Amino acid sequence: MSTTLAPHATLTASDRCDRCGAQAYLRVRLPAGGELLFCAHHAKQHEDSLKKVAVEIQDERNKLTSITNAPPSEER
Ligand SMILES: [Zn+2]
Repeated sequence: MSTTLAPHATLTASDRCDRCGAQAYLRVRLPAGGELLFCAHHAKQHEDSLKKVAVEIQDERNKLTSITNAPPSEER
C-alpha cells in the first residue's frame, strides 16, 4: 500500500442516527469538520440537502439490502 488515504471506518451498530437513534448507515462530513450520522430513513429524507452541504458522504445503505429481504429493485 502506498500513500493512499486511510479508509473510512465502517459504520457499526454503535453509530446512531442523530435524528432518531436508529443504527446509522450514512455518515456525512461537514466543511466545518463535524460529521452527522443518519439512519437509512433519515438519510433518504435529508439526502438532497445533505448533498449541498456535505464535503463527503459515506453511504453504507447497501449493507441494508444484504441483510434484510429487500424486494427486487423497483425498476427493471
Ligand atoms: Zn433516523
